[in-house]
Amino acid sequence: MTEPLETGATIGILGGGQLGRMLSVAAARLGFKTCIYEPAGDCPASHVANYHFKAAYDDHDALRQFAQAVDVITYEFENIPTSASDLLEEIKPIHPNRRALATSQDRLTEKTFLNDLGLTTAPFADVTDAQSLDAAIADIGCPAILKTRTMGYDGKGQSRLSSPDDAARALDDMAGASAVLEGFVTFTHEVSVIAARNADGQVACYDPGENVHENGILSTTTVPAKLTPSQRTDAVLIAAKILNALDYVGVMGVELFVTRDGLIVNEIAPRVHNSGHWTQNGCLIDQFEQHIRAVAGWPLGDGVRYANVTMENLIGDDVDRLPQVAATDTAIHLYGKADAKPGRKMGHVNRITGHP
Ligand code: AMP
Repeated sequence: MTEPLETGATIGILGGGQLGRMLSVAAARLGFKTCIYEPAGDCPASHVANYHFKAAYDDHDALRQFAQAVDVITYEFENIPTSASDLLEEIKPIHPNRRALATSQDRLTEKTFLNDLGLTTAPFADVTDAQSLDAAIADIGCPAILKTRTMGYDGKGQSRLSSPDDAARALDDMAGASAVLEGFVTFTHEVSVIAARNADGQVACYDPGENVHENGILSTTTVPAKLTPSQRTDAVLIAAKILNALDYVGVMGVELFVTRDGLIVNEIAPRVHNSGHWTQNGCLIDQFEQHIRAVAGWPLGDGVRYANVTMENLIGDDVDRLPQVAATDTAIHLYGKADAKPGRKMGHVNRITGHP
């Protein structure tokens, strides 16, 4: 059995966005202190965390001081430079581990890992230049999507090819970054499983949620998702298999395409996930508390769902609808961001639509 972190200990969180904010609140509920590491000043997590290291990810002195000030380290985003995580890991434990981070940071490594586990992904090929792109198109066919191997999120760093004639334009869109070409998957809908594992190997998965994206950004998540009982079981088994293979500690988001031939893994995120926000009002123990429990070496909650929920993201000026939304029976979660820029996630709401 892992020694549980004692109440009063400090959890370090890399990143100070809304996920760090909601993790900090959950940690506080369990009696922990939080210390965020985030270069930006007035960030969502800084309003609720106990301490804030405002420094760059290449500031090795600050990283060292941060690691010395906390008892365990976790993160709210996966694009942490390897040099930073290497340095931190020498001083304090980081969960999820280095392999989970490295696997999810690079689409090529991620897809190779998933295929090696026997899981289905979109067909893919490594693209480094015009010649390898031509070869990839000949192999995979069109339509296809060219994606940067690293640093992509919310549909950024992606370019669609309807025919081989789009190759030069798509390669330009990558701006010199190495990329993967992915075959276009004809899916009926998209779902995700939010799954957790602790150091003792206990795994708890939430019921899959059905996700709708607009302009590449998650718009809504609805539970229950439209899945047959066997698809639901498959989705959960896929997530559990990934967690076990990575000896994972923490919460992970596993995004899946639902096709007529079965489930295809789109990508994994080694952190709490936007499509898991419904758990805040649909479950006894939400994804944020679950992550903190895992990182702290505590037993996990079981993840049972007590309500049917629709989570809706408030993006950009959606937040102007707040007065109307507040007048309805809706749980409101705002991130404390000052400017409602287009495409910026300002908050989300959870509506209970029924009971299982
Ligand atoms: P990603 O950033 O890879 O999750 O992609 C963002 C969104 O683009 C996904 O949620 C899908 O709606 C769509 N998408 C990504 N990859 C594919 C694919 N290979 N085939 C079809 N749609 C895709």
